[in-house]
Amino acid sequence: MEYYLICALIFGVAYLVNATYISIFYHRGLTHSAIELKPGLRKFVVASGPWVMGIDAKTWCTMHRLHHRHSDKESDPHSPLNSSIPRVIVEQLKSYERIMRGLIARKKQYTSEVPDLDFNVHWLYRNKLWWLPYALHLAISVGLSFALGGWLVGLAFYSGMVTHPIQGWLVNSFGHSMGYQTFDNGDNSRNNNIVSWLVMGEGYQNNHHKHPRSPKFSYRWFEVDYGYRICQAMQALGMITIEKDYLIRVVERRELEERAA
Ligand SMILES: [Zn+2]
Ligand SMILES: [Zn+2]
Repeated sequence: MEYYLICALIFGVAYLVNATYISIFYHRGLTHSAIELKPGLRKFVVASGPWVMGIDAKTWCTMHRLHHRHSDKESDPHSPLNSSIPRVIVEQLKSYERIMRGLIARKKQYTSEVPDLDFNVHWLYRNKLWWLPYALHLAISVGLSFALGGWLVGLAFYSGMVTHPIQGWLVNSFGHSMGYQTFDNGDNSRNNNIVSWLVMGEGYQNNHHKHPRSPKFSYRWFEVDYGYRICQAMQALGMITIEKDYLIRVVERRELEERAA
């Protein structure tokens, strides 16, 4: 029994590490500047992100800014309206690869999206070594399996560490197809509570598209954005600064009150 608990714990931690890198560091931090990462942490995140998740920071940020710019239009890199809910997982990977190639080739249509990001596509990708982090995870999985006496613990670690595409798919597909709309953003963005519980509040796409620079994605009493609680904890630890609270306190309250009146 204890062994299964350890496996579940390892999967859970690996899953949360993935979600933290994307939702807190790449998304709220690097892409939208809704929080400011302290310089040392910022450097560490950019350098370590590919090793942890197999995802390049600059490419992810570029793709996500393009998603906001073209939300649910033809040029959206991963809208379910352009394909289907299951196909979003393929579309997001194809877009990610295309954008990375464009950034490496310094194509203006991509570099112009991220002039503020003063770092390059990670050297792993510039040298076609994208597979190396996965090989490292595999080696750690085998090591864990030997150390703790069973293959399940290795599988738990490996599968937890490669959950990012699944988490992204949940947000990109259901967050733009199923759920309620609090705001009229002119797109198909939705607020989906289940996806938000699974992925750190990221399911509140309708709220988020209304105010991308707000560090908090939940606005109503029943909406739970625990990613924002993690931001608050990180701020207390001196890792980040939350800058855009005024959006939540002033703008959103007033708009919601006006809607309710
Ligand atoms: Zn979206
Ligand atoms: Zn965003």
